[in-house]
Amino acid sequence: MPITDTKPRADVADRFVPKASPETRPFWDGTAAGELRIQSCTDCDRPFFYPRSSCPRCGGEALEWITCSGRASLYSYVISQRPAPGFEPPTVIAVVELEEGPRMMTNIVGVPPEPQFLPLDLPLQVTFEQRGDLAIPVFEPSESEVAR
Ligand SMILES: [Zn+2]
Repeated sequence: MPITDTKPRADVADRFVPKASPETRPFWDGTAAGELRIQSCTDCDRPFFYPRSSCPRCGGEALEWITCSGRASLYSYVISQRPAPGFEPPTVIAVVELEEGPRMMTNIVGVPPEPQFLPLDLPLQVTFEQRGDLAIPVFEPSESEVAR
């Protein structure tokens, strides 16, 4: 979508509630249970995200689901001023690096959407927001960070 397109559109609303597929079902079952689960390759022993049917590194198909610690750090973000259905702008759209290694696109919550509160490498903790039928993993500053 061109960056100049700021009008909310019907099809945009659908994008914010992902659809579970057979491949992603274990992920969404995990979030419903309050757990962040990702796949790991038992051939090369590397976890990855998003869900796939084969390892993005070695192509192996011997995959298992692991439960993440939920700890992550802030890798990159943008502060979106665009109106979006179900969101009160501004919102923080971020890429976080999970403790297990993979990076995940998500939203940052629990902190003012201003750069001074969003230093890179900020320690984060997963939390879950109910959107539609799915619990969506989002991240907030970890409690140890808030306590400082
Ligand atoms: Zn592999």
